[in-house]
Amino acid sequence: MNDIPLSTDAGARRAILDAADSLRQDAIGLLERLVRHRSVLGHEQSCLAEMEEVFASLGLQPRRVPVDEAALASHPGLSPPLISYAGRDPVIAIHRPRGHGGRSLLLQGHVDVVPEGAEDLWTTPPYEPAIRDGRMYGRGAADMKAGIAAYVTAFRALKLAGFQPAAELQMAAVIEEECTGNGALAVMQALPKPDACLIPEPGPGHPALYTAEVGVVWAWVTITGRPAHVREMQSGVNAIEAATAIAARFKDYESEMNRAERRRPPFAADNHPVNVNLGTIEGGEWNSSVPTRARIGMRVGVMPGYSCRDVARDIQRLVADAAQAPALKGTKVSVEFKGFMADGCVFPATQAISRVVSEAHREVAGEALRHYNAPGLTDARFYILYQGTEATCYGPDSDNIHGIDESVGLASLHEVTRALALTIAGWCGLEKA
Ligand SMILES: [Zn+2]
Repeated sequence: MNDIPLSTDAGARRAILDAADSLRQDAIGLLERLVRHRSVLGHEQSCLAEMEEVFASLGLQPRRVPVDEAALASHPGLSPPLISYAGRDPVIAIHRPRGHGGRSLLLQGHVDVVPEGAEDLWTTPPYEPAIRDGRMYGRGAADMKAGIAAYVTAFRALKLAGFQPAAELQMAAVIEEECTGNGALAVMQALPKPDACLIPEPGPGHPALYTAEVGVVWAWVTITGRPAHVREMQSGVNAIEAATAIAARFKDYESEMNRAERRRPPFAADNHPVNVNLGTIEGGEWNSSVPTRARIGMRVGVMPGYSCRDVARDIQRLVADAAQAPALKGTKVSVEFKGFMADGCVFPATQAISRVVSEAHREVAGEALRHYNAPGLTDARFYILYQGTEATCYGPDSDNIHGIDESVGLASLHEVTRALALTIAGWCGLEKA
């Protein structure tokens, strides 16, 4: 009788890492399959169906979790939806152990990707995965289809080595991480509370353990001016010029929020944690007509210590102030909140899951895992803020996420796959498959 737990047994760990090595090409193949889906907002269906097949291929029974706006309406984590959830249900699958030991774990990833931008700027088409110099290029390759490929392959490696987690292992593929987080919120409400949640979101140019993230608010400002022929331009009010005047106020707000005395831990040492992005602008009818209406869409970061509701109030105040300017006299200005209404979050490096991940990374990479305070947000916040569950993100290196020629390093993908396999073993414990 061997009283060393399987998860710390050197032979078991070696067998798991060998299995992960033998699955290296499988992980790359899975990532290629996922990147081929153009799973932008409202078009996640085929990628979700692919994930259903992937979970089934692990011997699990995938299940859909509807995002029920009515049921989530009173939840403080709900962000105002942008579009209907019909036909876009996230997918979950649960491994159940034979015994009752170990700690349960949720491994989650988002299948949604941000738009590809100007496709003509990509070296190769964004949804045709291409490998160059050890990196895979494609929209979503790093953010975060590589993370999904890594956790799926890590689980497969355990099984191939003859083991399985000795605790419940939940896996989820969600939607709308990039605009609301409501897919993750629905999954959190549907699953039994796990002992920890780990999301393999990419690191910033190197593998990283997330230790904090800012919150984010999405706001839409609509300006209605007064149309006129340009030859009587003075009698009209130009909605596009009014929109740019309002947008300028937000750049002042951004500078103000990033001043050293405003910055709060854990971002106190970062010189620009709060970013305001003027993301979209639409409006106007004709080059020779004073435009009647313009709409701008903005993303405003939330400094820790402030809530997203505080920032929403700031936004309303800024817009109301800007609308008082003489140049905007006669315009009608309204503010709408749709998309992110999300608070920031701290993921303590001292929490147990973060220590297990760090230890696993050190074992496979031979060096300490770097910490990352993210000036963007992830779905991990829900588990910490609303469920009291330990959560963090740890994933492969990335380049140009949300930009042109997004890529992930394949050596890093493999390293993270190996580390996730050891993390599952160390966290959940192992039993013979
Ligand atoms: Zn992401």
